[in-house]
Amino acid sequence: MNENQEGTLYLVATPIGNLDDITLRAIKVLKEADLIAAEDTRHTLKLLNHLEISKPMISYHRHNEELRSEHLIKELKEGKNIALVSDAGTPGISDPGEEIVKECIKENIKIIPVPGACAFVNALITSGISTKEFCFYGFLPLNKKNRKEKLEEIRDINKTVILYEAPHKIKNTLEDLRKVLNKDRKVVLAREITKIHEEFIRGNIEEIIEESENLKGEMVLIIEENHKEKENELCNLSIEEHYKYYQEQGLEKKEIIKKIAKDRNVNKNEIYKLFINKEEV
Ligand code: SAM
Repeated sequence: MNENQEGTLYLVATPIGNLDDITLRAIKVLKEADLIAAEDTRHTLKLLNHLEISKPMISYHRHNEELRSEHLIKELKEGKNIALVSDAGTPGISDPGEEIVKECIKENIKIIPVPGACAFVNALITSGISTKEFCFYGFLPLNKKNRKEKLEEIRDINKTVILYEAPHKIKNTLEDLRKVLNKDRKVVLAREITKIHEEFIRGNIEEIIEESENLKGEMVLIIEENHKEKENELCNLSIEEHYKYYQEQGLEKKEIIKKIAKDRNVNKNEIYKLFINKEEV
């Protein structure tokens, strides 16, 4: 795998439901690794059995991340190649991984990502909500004050918002979101991605709450950006800058004028008069 004396840390993505989503490269790396560091060794054993791979495993989870990192660094320094996996999806994404990566960088140990499934990426690309700019929050904090701060941030942010949530907490989280989200804001609840009961529920927060009563399984929430915030920002621009903003998005003059009038809450004829003889601003 690696000709250096030191071993390499492989960050190996595993399926988020459908076992066929394991990549050929992930199988190869798991087969060739000297050791597999797994979030839950019993869980990973099922995957390894399915792939007919037998390997020594060591647990590496949230509660022993720091301590185990030291041990794994030692093994890597002795020349072992280690594959790090989490229970599902990409390690380090709302899962253990960050600590060992930082330690490897400090110790100059090679790290190689082995890409694959990730729940939020697949929820986002299927949501129909803008994929251009987004903010991944993972799980909302449970601490009351931190949670309130995050919810307020989500209320105002002009980027697509992505949240993870556990099934038994989804009701509570949706209720909290209802308190801060504007009724026009689109929400998509992506459930059981890649599994038999895969489902995408689309609507505003009220509709999502109505439809998600008693839903089970793993869920990701994708929330549309707060357009109002963007509109406010745009209104602080000069009218020419505002025009240019939409022009750079490739919009036609007529469409730009309509949008400027809407953002500034004025009649479109007023804006039209300003640009009547101008092809380019
Ligand atoms: N590392 C994982 C990844 O790459 O997506 C995420 C791990 S995090 C501990 C688990 C959360 O991911 C779940 O609570 C849920 O929000 C989301 N998730 C994982 N698998 C999913 C699936 N098949 N469908 C929808 N959401 C999923």
